[in-house]
Amino acid sequence: MNLTRRELLQYFSLTAAAGLSGPGCIGWTREEAIPVDSWHKSVCRFCGSGCETRVGLRGGKVVKVEGLQSGWNQGRLCIKGLLNREILYVSDRAQYPMVRKNGQLVRTSWEEALDAAAAGFREAIAQGGPDAVAFYGSGQLFTQESYTANKLFKGGIGTNNVDGNPRLCMASAAFGYKSVFGADEPSGCYDDIEHATLFFVIGANMAECHPVVWERVRDRIRTAPETRVIVVDPRRTPTARDATQHLQLRPGTDVALLNAMAHELLNTNLVDPEFIENFVTFRKGTADSPPLTLEDLRKFLADYAPEKVADLCGLSSAEIREAARLFGISQAAMSFWTMGLNQQTHGVAANRMVMALHLLTGQIGRPGTGPFSMTGQPNAGGGVRDTGTLAHALPAGRLVTKEHDRHDMEKLWGLPEGRISPNPGLPAVQLFEAMREGKVRAALVMATNPARSLPNADRYRPGMEKAFLVVSDSIFPTDTARLADVFLPAAMWSEKEGVFSQSERRYHLVEKLVDPPGEARSDLEILVALGERLGHGELLKARTPEAVWDEWRKVAAGTSYDFTGITYARLKELPGLTWPCPTEQHPGTCRRYVPGEDPLAKKEGRIDFYARPDGRAIVYLSEQGPFRENLSSDYPMILTTGRRLEHWHTATITGRVPELKGIPMDYLELHPGDAAVLGVKEGDWVQVTSARGSVRLRAKPSMRVRPGVVFALMHSMEHLVNAATSDSVDPISAQPEYKMAAVRVERVKEGT
Ligand code: SF4
Repeated sequence: MNLTRRELLQYFSLTAAAGLSGPGCIGWTREEAIPVDSWHKSVCRFCGSGCETRVGLRGGKVVKVEGLQSGWNQGRLCIKGLLNREILYVSDRAQYPMVRKNGQLVRTSWEEALDAAAAGFREAIAQGGPDAVAFYGSGQLFTQESYTANKLFKGGIGTNNVDGNPRLCMASAAFGYKSVFGADEPSGCYDDIEHATLFFVIGANMAECHPVVWERVRDRIRTAPETRVIVVDPRRTPTARDATQHLQLRPGTDVALLNAMAHELLNTNLVDPEFIENFVTFRKGTADSPPLTLEDLRKFLADYAPEKVADLCGLSSAEIREAARLFGISQAAMSFWTMGLNQQTHGVAANRMVMALHLLTGQIGRPGTGPFSMTGQPNAGGGVRDTGTLAHALPAGRLVTKEHDRHDMEKLWGLPEGRISPNPGLPAVQLFEAMREGKVRAALVMATNPARSLPNADRYRPGMEKAFLVVSDSIFPTDTARLADVFLPAAMWSEKEGVFSQSERRYHLVEKLVDPPGEARSDLEILVALGERLGHGELLKARTPEAVWDEWRKVAAGTSYDFTGITYARLKELPGLTWPCPTEQHPGTCRRYVPGEDPLAKKEGRIDFYARPDGRAIVYLSEQGPFRENLSSDYPMILTTGRRLEHWHTATITGRVPELKGIPMDYLELHPGDAAVLGVKEGDWVQVTSARGSVRLRAKPSMRVRPGVVFALMHSMEHLVNAATSDSVDPISAQPEYKMAAVRVERVKEGT
């Protein structure tokens, strides 16, 4: 490891900002900077903050990665960002194609591996039709790769069984935005942070999971002392330490809390009647349900008065009232959220209600306002949500169920009318269930590790083993790669070219700077080669990253995702551009829907929700709904899961970086009172058991969690936390409920 003094100081300052110390610093040593031959701009390969970097090359290798001073992140990177170089050179990089022979994965040529992959897919289609195959992708693929996979499977093979890990982390946000505003993705941008006077953070531990964006929030707090921060989280996270008010609610009760805040805002007249009158409509259930009125909402919310839901939420009514008051009186309120809100069976309702707070108070479309969901991966927004690489979707907000949208795409892709199936494909959990049942017989899995990341993961592994599985990844082995029939080694970020888009709708170009290890290839090359062998070479005429990008620009033109003006030439020159951006002269849009700012907003006035037919956003009357997991004497506690600063996802990458190996990830936080009742001390082994399975972890008594709630990291490489998590899904978004599983915790002796 050769971090410079500046990098280390930067890391230590962010670590301190996140309230972390000790473990984050293990194994770090100071070395002098390595000389660099040339510098190139790029983007961090990890979270959806999308920090801009500059990459130093020497002798055909990446030798340095720093934050780009001119980027939105002003030169900052967190520890994962600093490790963008190290992850390229870990020892387990995948280098050669492999096929399974006599039960073993053995090295082979690309020709043989691709022929075997195509043969497996052809056989599955011959036996079960196009819906017997599937694509399961990732928010870590480039936009061009996801777009091409979507085109190959939906337009070529003829199945909508196209989904990916973004279904697990942000489907509820995508469905929330689409149903409220008519189009997905946040309306604001990071510059809003400098104007906000209130940050409402719900279900997001940004100090650890989006630390550089959080540093910008902390800058605002430092420079504008009037700024208030409300953090809603069952854990006292490092983010909560920056809060003016921390609402340590009971997991899964977010909708009740948000409804109670809406009740209080209406009751105390802290709403914006002019905004409601002109720009809002009310519905229950779906966007095309009969219109309702503000009075209907008032009546509906009568059951959610703060004193009526306080017990359910585990809060006092005074706390809820104060949160509503702070939101209502703020000059500019900005909300952030991520998996904590999305990963529940009421995820869409919770998303809609955060958006409703902004609509009722007119806190949108002005500097420092707006609902702003963060994404967990570098390209889940642009690569997967925008390109429609999900089972229900088509590119640029189109839907497979809409005839007009299908015909649009058939025309754009040069396909005969009727080629795209009108039936939504299977979203992630149902897709793997269909594999279990033998209905999906072959699947291509790219850049993700569902064998560990799916909830109730043990249930779905046998299906992956039974199906014909083609896995493409940069690391070998992962748990999913071990189950593959064909394994294809993939290039990583700077070893291939493509576009990432982060949480503020900013597209960035990641240029190819170095060669991948061994025989690894880009996922785009892999998709094209497989498509050709399956007889769809003509469909995939765009084969270079630039050609695919240009095609994707044309496909999005004229929609509410228009970014015609984001050309490759501009991407090469600029750190990034935010859409909408319909012309090559347009500088990119910070605030969507605002006349004079957003080029697609046509009407005069405060705001134009142009993606909705009537130009009005929808406030939904949203029920809290029953819990899927009821506590019982067998399972009396709630397990919730999350991340820590230094690791990422199933740690297939960060867990292999030597400097991070010592950072613990196999522990269970539990309240000291619960630990005492269970007779558990720090470091004891405990078994966490749900109705689905169990996992052993080291006990870590901590005041961070509420009594009755236990917390585990999703990263653990040795212990499968997802053996116990719940695979119940939100009925609208099909996103599973990782954040709430009923469990029992027992002390176990080592070795038993
Ligand atoms: S905050 Fe996210 S994007 Fe930025 S350096 Fe860290 S991991 Fe990378």
